[in-house]
Amino acid sequence: MNLSERDKLYNWHPYTQHKTAADFPAIVKGEGALLWDENGKEYVDAIASWWVNPYGHSNKVIADAIYEQLTTLEHVLFGGFTHDKAVLLAEKLMTILPKNQKKLFYSDNGSTAVEVALKCALQYNYNKGIKKTKIIAFEDAFHGDTFGAMASSGISFFTKAFKGSLLEVIRIPVPTKGNEEKSLQALQNLVVTNEYAAFIFEPLVQGAAGMVMYSYEVLDKMISICNQNNVFTIADEVMTGFGKTGKTFATDYLVNKPDMMCLSKALTGGTIPMAITTFTQEVFDGFYDDDTNKALFHGHTFTANPTGCAAALASINLLQTYAMQYNIAQINKLHLAFEAKIKSHPKVKTTRVLGVIFALEIKTESQESYYGTMRNKLYNFFVENGVILRPVGNIVYILPPYVITNTQLEKVYTTVEKALEIV
Ligand SMILES: *Cc1c(COP(=O)(O)O)cnc(C)c1O
Repeated sequence: MNLSERDKLYNWHPYTQHKTAADFPAIVKGEGALLWDENGKEYVDAIASWWVNPYGHSNKVIADAIYEQLTTLEHVLFGGFTHDKAVLLAEKLMTILPKNQKKLFYSDNGSTAVEVALKCALQYNYNKGIKKTKIIAFEDAFHGDTFGAMASSGISFFTKAFKGSLLEVIRIPVPTKGNEEKSLQALQNLVVTNEYAAFIFEPLVQGAAGMVMYSYEVLDKMISICNQNNVFTIADEVMTGFGKTGKTFATDYLVNKPDMMCLSKALTGGTIPMAITTFTQEVFDGFYDDDTNKALFHGHTFTANPTGCAAALASINLLQTYAMQYNIAQINKLHLAFEAKIKSHPKVKTTRVLGVIFALEIKTESQESYYGTMRNKLYNFFVENGVILRPVGNIVYILPPYVITNTQLEKVYTTVEKALEIV
């Protein structure tokens, strides 16, 4: 049996109906934007392995930093102790985060970063004796798969089995072009009730919804409305963070900065699972008290794992190099050129680009479901042709590693064009 076959004996994969799923290719090597399976077939990883891997697979710089850390101090508990990499990473992040972010809390993945933010918003009010127990989120949002994150997520078939067991979250429309007023009004109507602890959103781009985009002007207004009504704002930058939108953070486009931010995915360049929730001084001060009970009693065994911190430091240093910034700008230019070429294609409904993110919607008669027939046909076509893209319904998006070469990116574009002929 090969690896693909042996895999099926024991492994349970994410978002997978194993009864109908085909055998999964077994990847044995990665370098830059390329992956190779056990049969030697080459793939261009055009979605940076779920958006985690901007600096390329098996990156030597990050690998060296990890090796050095593993052979110096692989781990130490963060309860009651600290270590040099957590201090250095915090100092580094303070130089790139919005100026109002003053405190960091470490966890392991995007969902836990969101859980921490939501718990802080709720407990902040509890500590002050204020009854604010509900959360506001966007329709079609995705904030992760743990309970708080899932409650905040709007993609219904991910969450419907758990409906009765979730935190109370009220959804408002996404302020895409033409829907700004509707969305602002819905937010305004909710915040005045004084029942809401926080508004959580994916800034500028809703990744899992299919790279749905909205303007920074409207988000600025929404944050302002929340500020005026003492509702915390939580920017879930798990996908958008570290250069994806063309700036370090999506919130860098804003005048009004959020109270909390969630970071993960590209934080460690796709190496060690790690996440960080960041806070204003005001949020932190809501827990700072002589009363022990007012502390944030939350933690994970691997909190601030030194190896993860070392990987994050190396990753951020890579992001800040001239070469990487040049690559980000270059990918954006090529995306815009491809957009200009493809947008009048008879099968294309709309296109959108921000930073290294490109998305196009294919015209369809019916509403295409997330894992529907069109999606599966496209997905299989891409994988057969050696390009890793995971369409969302009728939406095809590209979010490549920043180190992708022009030739590799051209191959991705050509394959997308060819795919339009099979649907
Ligand atoms: C992926 C994602 C998450 C969840 O992160 P995990 O590491 O999968 O738990 C949360 N928010 C956003 C915006 C994401 O894209």
